[in-house]
Amino acid sequence: MYEIADKLQNLVPYDPIKGNYKIRLDANESFVSTNPDELSAAVSGAVLNRYPDPYANDLINVYADLYEIDSDLITAGNGSDELISVILSSFFAKGEKILCFYQDFSVYSFFSFLYELDAVLEKKEADLTINIDAVIKKINSENIRGIIFSNPCNPTSLGIEKEDVKRLIESTNALVILDEAYMDFWEEEQSLIKETASYDNLIVLRTCSKALGMAGLRLGLAVSNTKITAKLRAVKCPYNVNALTQCAAAYFLRNKEEMKKRINLCKAAKEELYSGLISMDLPFIEKIYPSVTNFVLVKTDKAKEIFDYLLDNSIAVRFMGDHLRITAGTSEENKALFDALKKFK
Ligand SMILES: *Cc1c(COP(=O)(O)O)cnc(C)c1O
Repeated sequence: MYEIADKLQNLVPYDPIKGNYKIRLDANESFVSTNPDELSAAVSGAVLNRYPDPYANDLINVYADLYEIDSDLITAGNGSDELISVILSSFFAKGEKILCFYQDFSVYSFFSFLYELDAVLEKKEADLTINIDAVIKKINSENIRGIIFSNPCNPTSLGIEKEDVKRLIESTNALVILDEAYMDFWEEEQSLIKETASYDNLIVLRTCSKALGMAGLRLGLAVSNTKITAKLRAVKCPYNVNALTQCAAAYFLRNKEEMKKRINLCKAAKEELYSGLISMDLPFIEKIYPSVTNFVLVKTDKAKEIFDYLLDNSIAVRFMGDHLRITAGTSEENKALFDALKKFK
């Protein structure tokens, strides 16, 4: 009889919030939607009977132009989730140590587990920051081969200053996988996307799912030196980015003004959400973290009650133990959230 592999026995499918909630503030997506006519125009040139370009060259050139980087350093993926999977499955051998943080994006430790890496889970400080020097020491003393983390961080909404990230990269031989999914919301100067060529141990991950408003397309990008890029391109699935995505993403990313506008709309919405929450001074909220992302993390020992109450009011946020993570929505959505929270007892 066939037996499911041991490591799969307790796994269940990823299960985002189901149900028809009017207001979705749970997945850190952009609220800026695409005009259907523009979408039709964007994909009208797509060819479906042939396989797509395995390296998504047009798209990569447009992305390179938008961020002023060299297209030879970019690998496109079916979402950055795919790139995380490809990197963790290929750049490390079974049993090798990789450092992940708690709290951080759960996909890292999930894939580490799946590929039978030895995930060393480092707990963050009480204020959810990272002690970089302690981490450097740990990596170097425990033979850790890789480190993966998000900066800015999902779910803490905090950013690590660039100089600290550089010190980490420069102080270790481990491969540093730096997930900058939310960097568009912070400051361009905090990004290492333009500096990957000067490091032999750095992969920067970016995504079109957040600030650029294209989560539905599934497009992530890895940026690294040419040596690492050659290997990334060698190990990924040959046709990993489909023709419609390549076509549509290239079309939208070419419009730099629109991309800037999308980013700024979400940044303004985050300011509105953050200052709104602060000014309400709700007695059941213990702490509101300063955010350099498009979401706000709040600490409350009523997290579950508030989460359920908001769902009853058709507002979905993300429940995380004694925290709630709330994505910035439109002004109307943010206001609906404030109104609901005011009535929470
Ligand atoms: C949302 C998110 C991503 C994006 O993943 P995609 O597969 O590109 O949609 C990557 N990293 C973090 C930390 C995220 O929160």
